[in-house]
Amino acid sequence: MADPTTRLEATLILIKPDGLAKSLTGNILTRLSEAKLEIAAAKCLRVSQELAEKHYQALRDKPFFDELIDYIMGKRHSRKKVLAVVYAGDKAIEKVRQLAGVTNPEEADSVSIRGQYGRITTTGLYENVIHASSNVQEAEREIKLWFEPDEIIFDLYPTVSSDVTTRKRVWVPTPVTAKVKS
Ligand code: UDP
Ligand code: MG
Repeated sequence: MADPTTRLEATLILIKPDGLAKSLTGNILTRLSEAKLEIAAAKCLRVSQELAEKHYQALRDKPFFDELIDYIMGKRHSRKKVLAVVYAGDKAIEKVRQLAGVTNPEEADSVSIRGQYGRITTTGLYENVIHASSNVQEAEREIKLWFEPDEIIFDLYPTVSSDVTTRKRVWVPTPVTAKVKS
């Protein structure tokens, strides 16, 4: 019989531009490995204004919203990118939030990721180096926003086949060099 205490979940984490600028990727991923979850997807990407605003849509009325959008887009740091990772496993959301620590880095447990590496800027924005989904609904919305189904190695959510005709960049084929007879 399945263990009733098991709760299979997926969660999105983002190593934010301050985490990348401070060279914390290795440390953060090592800390997250304590949760014994599986990496289901990972990519490094530049964050567009549209993606940033959709990601933080629930906070659009907050006074710090514009600053937050600039922050996640990397406009405040030397790294205009984030590392997005989907973790899957038992109670993934809670475990990752626990390791991340609470939103305010000053209030976060001092050994949590945000407690160790986060800071509050002079304007009051929390630069807390990592995003972590806060509940099942948000995790699903965020994972679908940041990743295509084929970028994730597990079937986390139902998919359909759809005929899409979009142009995309492809690699220039490597020229086949003629063999020189010796
Ligand atoms: N944030 C902030 N000040 C606040 C609340 C949030 O600067 O008073 C920033 C912080 O970077 C946070 C992000 O906005 O991580 C998203 O806020 P949310 O309330 O969703 O917190 P989280 O889920 O990231 O802990
Ligand atoms: Mg949140």
